[in-house]
Amino acid sequence: MVQRRQIMVQGQVQGVGFRPFVHHLAGRLGLTGSVANTTDGAAIKVQGQAEQLDRFIELLVREAPRLARPVVTLVKSLAVVDGEMDFHIQASLMSADRKALVTPDAATCPDCLRELNDPADRRYRYPFINCTNCGPRYTITFDIPYDRPNTTMGRFEMCPDCRREYEDPANRRFHAQPNACPVCGPKVWLENTDGKRLAEADEAVRQAVRRLEQGEIVAVKGLGGFHLAVRADRDEAVECLRQRKYRKAKAFALMVRDITTARRVAQIGPAEQALLEGVERPIVLCYKLSDAPVSEQVAPRSRWQGVMLPYTPLHHLLMEGDYPALVMTSGNNSDEPIETSNTGGREHLGAIVDVLLLHDRPIYTSCDDSVVRVYDGEPMMLRRARGYAPQPLFLKRRSNKNILAVGAELKNTVTFIKGENVFVSQHIGDLKTAPTHEAFLRTIDKLGALIDARPDIVACDLHPAMLSTQQAQSYAGVRLVPVQHHHAHAAAVMGEYNLEEPVVAIMADGVGYGTDGRVWGCEILTAWRNRFERRAHLEPVAMPGGDAASWEPWRMAVSYLLQALGPDEGAKRARSLLSMIDVADIETVATMVKQGFNCPMTTSLGRLFDAVSALLNVCTHNTYNAQAAVELEYIAGETITPLSYAINVDSASPVHILRTQSMIQQIVADMDRNVGPKEIAAGFHAAVIDGLYRSADMTAQQDGIKTIVLGGGVFHNDILLSGLHRKLQQNGYGVYFNRQIPVNDGAISFGQAVVADAINDN
Ligand code: ZN
Ligand code: ZN
Ligand code: FE
Repeated sequence: MVQRRQIMVQGQVQGVGFRPFVHHLAGRLGLTGSVANTTDGAAIKVQGQAEQLDRFIELLVREAPRLARPVVTLVKSLAVVDGEMDFHIQASLMSADRKALVTPDAATCPDCLRELNDPADRRYRYPFINCTNCGPRYTITFDIPYDRPNTTMGRFEMCPDCRREYEDPANRRFHAQPNACPVCGPKVWLENTDGKRLAEADEAVRQAVRRLEQGEIVAVKGLGGFHLAVRADRDEAVECLRQRKYRKAKAFALMVRDITTARRVAQIGPAEQALLEGVERPIVLCYKLSDAPVSEQVAPRSRWQGVMLPYTPLHHLLMEGDYPALVMTSGNNSDEPIETSNTGGREHLGAIVDVLLLHDRPIYTSCDDSVVRVYDGEPMMLRRARGYAPQPLFLKRRSNKNILAVGAELKNTVTFIKGENVFVSQHIGDLKTAPTHEAFLRTIDKLGALIDARPDIVACDLHPAMLSTQQAQSYAGVRLVPVQHHHAHAAAVMGEYNLEEPVVAIMADGVGYGTDGRVWGCEILTAWRNRFERRAHLEPVAMPGGDAASWEPWRMAVSYLLQALGPDEGAKRARSLLSMIDVADIETVATMVKQGFNCPMTTSLGRLFDAVSALLNVCTHNTYNAQAAVELEYIAGETITPLSYAINVDSASPVHILRTQSMIQQIVADMDRNVGPKEIAAGFHAAVIDGLYRSADMTAQQDGIKTIVLGGGVFHNDILLSGLHRKLQQNGYGVYFNRQIPVNDGAISFGQAVVADAINDN
């Protein structure tokens, strides 16, 4: 029996070849009707036999083009139209294209890759080959509609061959805005650090490969910014990069040619493989293999190795060299944004590299590589940027106001809420340097323009002096909503999982400004979307020198020893146990703590990890953020110990206090008995898991809550996350933590937006 149906499709369906696909699919199934773009998706009217219509709807999702993410939101019956003969793409609604969202950048597709390697193809070895199913998007687009003149490809006029493909609805390059070929498109060249051109086009790529083979460091202008590349199997080459970049120990990511090579470098399970080969092409954190053919200097003192596969044609060509892997690290000076322009690359990377591989397709929006890992078989985002931004997350509820949230100070992102769409920006970075602050302002402007959202409400942190807060205050005529940092962490989880009922939130965090003006970080909250109560926290401890303490973990060791053992005994034990620290420095810090001079109080869990790491002489000085905690986890490794230390939950006052004195005393006693750092580190992790569990359990029972959310950067620690997660689950709790966005401060802007939306709703 012939029927007619209307199908509404939302999600990512515009600018990805979806309508030609629908047209083709309908033809295949012998259906008639039409497809049109609407402001928020695609509207399909389709007519034919009932079973063919069912099949159509099924295949609409299953066989969708590579970059499409269709969500069928409505199917309803219509009156049959007599005499309809064909299925057509409705031209009258083409103007709706103007609302099309810009999609994320996508890795080179198999068809383009085949052409890249085909000597008979006119794009043989052309580094900018792309099509509707792959290539640059977000990073080259400066305005909507997503049309070539609104991208940095506007300066390249298509040759007749490219134009023919572009205008042919049957062609893979139909309306592929960055379409290009060697005749008309961008070009690559190699330069030395004096600005002299050494080679052009394919010869430039071949020479870059030869130089990499010889161990030289090459700046490579890529998709979202520059990389610094060096072969990963030579100690002296990797060490040279570390010296020139002033990056002592923080792990480097690797690019390998294919999945087979990836398996020689790290443990790759099915979920890791799917991520490595996906169109988003993130860096995937995997467990290191001890016999990997790469230098120990790539990721020293870490369980993890970041790995990625090539995601641009240029990368594929570079990976042809005779090396097992390349270090591919962000082309920036530490703590500054990734360089994107040829000028910036020359000025700021010239001192690090031997040569620069440049091109003339401008990068409009910078995007670092995304970083993901697999936890419990599912992806967990650690840094969300290229390949994911600006793809929206969907809210179950619709906001009637446009909301901008400006995020945290570290690992900053910004978020817009518009309707039921949430746009979390790419990772921006730490807003402490002027260039990063500029990148923050640029991202607000650029993303706001691309999604056409002017904010009615601006959410920010509670901290009055934060740069992002000051920026939020500068908006005229908007409602300002300050949100406490850990409330934002909790709300980010509630938002991601559409949790509406109150939750107990366990915050394992470094730094967040509290309602009492102190630095919070280890908190048990009961949280609603629009408010929260602080139910328990770590006992406050002095942070000698304030911020300096987070770079010099040994200061926290002194502070904790003084708290646990008293001023005299604590200072004495600090001198004997912290063997790597100058005695005079220890005295100075001990005196600061005793007198309360320049010693803000903190409940940070990150600082407790620092203290124990330094106390065990695992790491006394951080050369990168959270190094002491990373190395403490590395030392603990797979060690399993019976619970030998305890954090006491003091429930005498309404807000419970987690006390660490006896644990620190026990650790000191174990050190005296020559118990190894491995066992102590493992025992410490177990004690933290146990203390957080008991405290959260107490709160949850008091409040009759069965849902627990986890948040904060300390949950990067796999021992802590998996241990606590399992223990909570075993005891019947529903446990949630961010996966689509990072569990760290990259989630804060989203959480702020969720809170602002809930407050607005009241
Ligand atoms: Zn392609
Ligand atoms: Zn061309
Ligand atoms: Fe945080």
